[in-house]
Amino acid sequence: MAGTLLVSLDFELFWGMLDVCPLEQYQDHVLGGREAIPKLLKLFEKYDIHATWAAVGFLFGESKEELARFFPAAGERPCYRNLGLDPYAYLAKIGENEREAPCFYGPSLLKLIAQTPGQELGSHTFSHYYCRETGQTPGEFAADMKAAREIAMAHGYDVHSAILPRNQCEPEYTEVLRETGFTAYRDEENDWIHEKIHFHPLLRLLRLMDVYFPLTGQGGYVPKNENGIWNLTGSRMYKPILKPLYCLEGLKLHRIKNQMLHAAKRGLTFHLWWHPHNIGVRTEEHLRQLEEIFKYYAQLRETYGMESRNMGEMTAFLENQRNEGRS
Ligand SMILES: [Zn+2]
Repeated sequence: MAGTLLVSLDFELFWGMLDVCPLEQYQDHVLGGREAIPKLLKLFEKYDIHATWAAVGFLFGESKEELARFFPAAGERPCYRNLGLDPYAYLAKIGENEREAPCFYGPSLLKLIAQTPGQELGSHTFSHYYCRETGQTPGEFAADMKAAREIAMAHGYDVHSAILPRNQCEPEYTEVLRETGFTAYRDEENDWIHEKIHFHPLLRLLRLMDVYFPLTGQGGYVPKNENGIWNLTGSRMYKPILKPLYCLEGLKLHRIKNQMLHAAKRGLTFHLWWHPHNIGVRTEEHLRQLEEIFKYYAQLRETYGMESRNMGEMTAFLENQRNEGRS
């Protein structure tokens, strides 16, 4: 069997950063990310890269008024103990639409993505929902995912692939995904660093080193079906350029290419992911790096028959395979 290159992007504008820093500190990344999207789509087309863009439901809103029509009832919204995470409270502070608040709404970009061949729109929840936060419940999560499907549907997009914010996947919550009509989700990398290291500073350090050096092996795998939903685990995040470690950028790309080669040779799935805002500054340099990766994919397609798929296409492919196995 040929290997697969899966690509997915967590498309959230500023919604994933509410508790991290003030908008003023980060808006150049978000606005730069918006500028980078059409360029990235051109590259995807040039190299026939298929990708899933898991979008926060709030991004679909043409206006705040339209968005409010899809809100879960007041009692069904996430009750985080950390009030800094409450996206509904934050909404009161922002403009009315994409023109006034481009860091928060994105219907024009969603349209552009959906019109580009090979691109799938998926969901990054309705309100950038945090499944492991204290205070919220699976019931509130179900209301959020229902709203995510409804607002996408109202704009003509039937979304079936999900990526949970900060990869906070728990069995109870993936069960909700399945019940709400999702057929695949991207789980967190399941390597020894994530499983065994619980001391946060060490975890961060090891994960960072793993970007450049093969601490966790190659990340290729065979996708599994979990009670009716496909687990398309992430293999590697494409990390943006880190200034103090700039001299290691060559190793970063080398590491990704090795992982792709490993998957291509063995018929495994390699899942690469990032956020548009990761390439919102130093955009041209990042796009050059990504182009190098896509060129390498073209070589692997030529030599080993590797295929590029988005999560929806992968799910359809896996279902087909399963049905053939049964007949
Ligand atoms: Zn996110």
